[in-house]
Amino acid sequence: MKVFLPWFGHFGDLVRDVLPWIWAHWQPGDVIGGDPRQALLYPVPPEPVLWAPVAAQYPHGYDSHIRPGELPDALRRVALARWPRAVLRQWSRTGEVFPKPSLRLPDPVAIDVVLAPRRKPYADAKNGWPWEALAQGCQARGWTVGLAGTREESASVPHAIAAWDIAPADGGLCGTIALLRGARAVVTLDSGIGHLASLVDAPQLVVYPRRGDERRSLVLRDGRHAQMRFADMHRWNTRLCLPVWGGVDAVLTALIEVMTRTQIALGPIAPWRAHHVSRVPGWEAGQTIVVKETERSLIMRPEGNVLIETSPLPPARPAIPVHERERRRATCRACAHYRAGSDRCAVCGCGFVIAERIVSRVARCPGGFW
Ligand code: SF4
Repeated sequence: MKVFLPWFGHFGDLVRDVLPWIWAHWQPGDVIGGDPRQALLYPVPPEPVLWAPVAAQYPHGYDSHIRPGELPDALRRVALARWPRAVLRQWSRTGEVFPKPSLRLPDPVAIDVVLAPRRKPYADAKNGWPWEALAQGCQARGWTVGLAGTREESASVPHAIAAWDIAPADGGLCGTIALLRGARAVVTLDSGIGHLASLVDAPQLVVYPRRGDERRSLVLRDGRHAQMRFADMHRWNTRLCLPVWGGVDAVLTALIEVMTRTQIALGPIAPWRAHHVSRVPGWEAGQTIVVKETERSLIMRPEGNVLIETSPLPPARPAIPVHERERRRATCRACAHYRAGSDRCAVCGCGFVIAERIVSRVARCPGGFW
């Protein structure tokens, strides 16, 4: 028998990479390590004894700023003490692709828009997106708003129902999946809930600062690059999966289009690419048609077609010299308007983190310091 050691990193990697690997290799009699509250995600409930060392190392959930230290060795010791003849398996990134896992899904909970107002309890560049304004904008249009995620890692924004209130025992996972399944549209950042939305084929919008960012490795903070994973969400989602570029107004515009006048058709795209949307059989005036293939989508609007591709782009090259970048970085960090937790400027009001602004040729300090 095999023991699958628990994954203790980012939730997004668990959903998109680790779970498919486990589901592809698990056989009856094998033991799985994982958060026992997330039993819904696994073929059999995870063994709590394998999660105890993880909970001790990360008592408030995974924090990328805390090094795992001896945790991998501790997990092996615990597993071999309990199952001495077992073969231990630990996921590692190999590039191999596995099918979507076949989760036992809870019944859908009907809701108009589901938001994932991610806010990690530690400093993180994805914190600070203006979710409250988006939730208010949705409610002003008469849409019911559901919140996906966990109470501990979500910003407090207006809502009709939250995942963690539906089934509190698992911290919000069952409620999250029920909401994602019942949503007319889901809005997330490039995050774990986005992968979960694609897993259950929820019509989804994924927010990025600028066009093309969804295909890039972005500098999130402190010069660290992170590959955006829109392509993976698009590949999994058999319904609608589109990027949105910008802030609250751009997302609301996209939501109105998705919720009121968008029809989805499965590919191929090639026969339609050069045609006006009015040529699509059954098209009604004003409608948007989205033709979807696994790796790309074609948005057909009366004003023209837009091809959404997902193949990776090279990282955007820094447009300014290193010494100027460092000068800007030092100035921001010494500034009273700098918010270290989200790596944002409190007065500029844009969607970009400082790590991105300081490498931009067009960005300006709103205080006139650079
Ligand atoms: S006001 Fe200027 S220096 Fe201060 S945090 Fe904002 S961008 Fe940086």
